[in-house]
Amino acid sequence: MILPDFLVENKYGYYCQYGDFYIDPKYPVKKAVISHAHGDHAVPGHSEIYSTEATVLFMQARYARKMQGTAAFIKTYKERFQIGEVEITFLPAGHILGSAQILMQYKGVKYLYTGDYKLTPDVTCEAIESVKAEVLITETTFANPAVSHPDPREEIQKIREQKAKILLGCYSLGKAQSITALINHYCPEIEVYIHRNMEALHRIYQKQGRADLKYRPYRRREFKEGSRNKVYLVPPMTFQNYYRAIDIIRAFASGWDRLQEKNGITLYISDHADWEQIVQYIREVKPEEIWTVHGNGKPLHDYFHTTLQVRGLDKIG
Ligand SMILES: [Zn+2]
Repeated sequence: MILPDFLVENKYGYYCQYGDFYIDPKYPVKKAVISHAHGDHAVPGHSEIYSTEATVLFMQARYARKMQGTAAFIKTYKERFQIGEVEITFLPAGHILGSAQILMQYKGVKYLYTGDYKLTPDVTCEAIESVKAEVLITETTFANPAVSHPDPREEIQKIREQKAKILLGCYSLGKAQSITALINHYCPEIEVYIHRNMEALHRIYQKQGRADLKYRPYRRREFKEGSRNKVYLVPPMTFQNYYRAIDIIRAFASGWDRLQEKNGITLYISDHADWEQIVQYIREVKPEEIWTVHGNGKPLHDYFHTTLQVRGLDKIG
């Protein structure tokens, strides 16, 4: 029997009372199961974290001393472990390196929390794996029938044949490395320079050995010299601060329309599933119920409500 209160939302985040743990909590807690290292899912200060090795490495790189009091329990994909009465297994989510879906089994019922995920192939991270589950707890960042992401292998080629060098805004973790790999592979004549905040993260990707990334740390003089076939990857804040830069074409790699405005070229490259991928994923998992998190669940409710229960998590306190 599905327990409607198996996972609820309180002020710290998503809480499972049957195992007394949180999933991706926003504030420090005793036991946190962390799907991936993006800042809206992974914060420092927990007593115990349960996650993949890459997630722990990224958190250590980002939070440094703030991780000192945290005991990290590293789990590989498919490894089963118990927290309280709940059996947990991580499955690849295809979102960034080390990103995991969290499969929770309790009293014969499977609850699958997707975290952020995508079905689009990405050489820099593990490909998503699905499993059948009675309850699918899915993110809904782009769960809107109007959202359809183009093929990133074609989209990235927009940066070729530009009349100037390119300033390319993107998130430092995950997106910066997948963009580097896409340029290396599909625009091999273009040199990639990265912002210093990305260097440690690129190195972790390199060490984990999924993709051989070719890039240089940004040096102003070197970047300015010579051919126009150069791209400088910068994090969002730096991108905003460069708005007056001349002789440079601006682009921002994202699925969001608002981040494409006022740029020289649009670059719709996302690390989230779009509407079609979410619907396809639901068909693979074949849940009896869908619980929605991170975004607006209404379009999914409207689409599936005659066959499935679709709802948000109950809010407690
Ligand atoms: Zn994410």
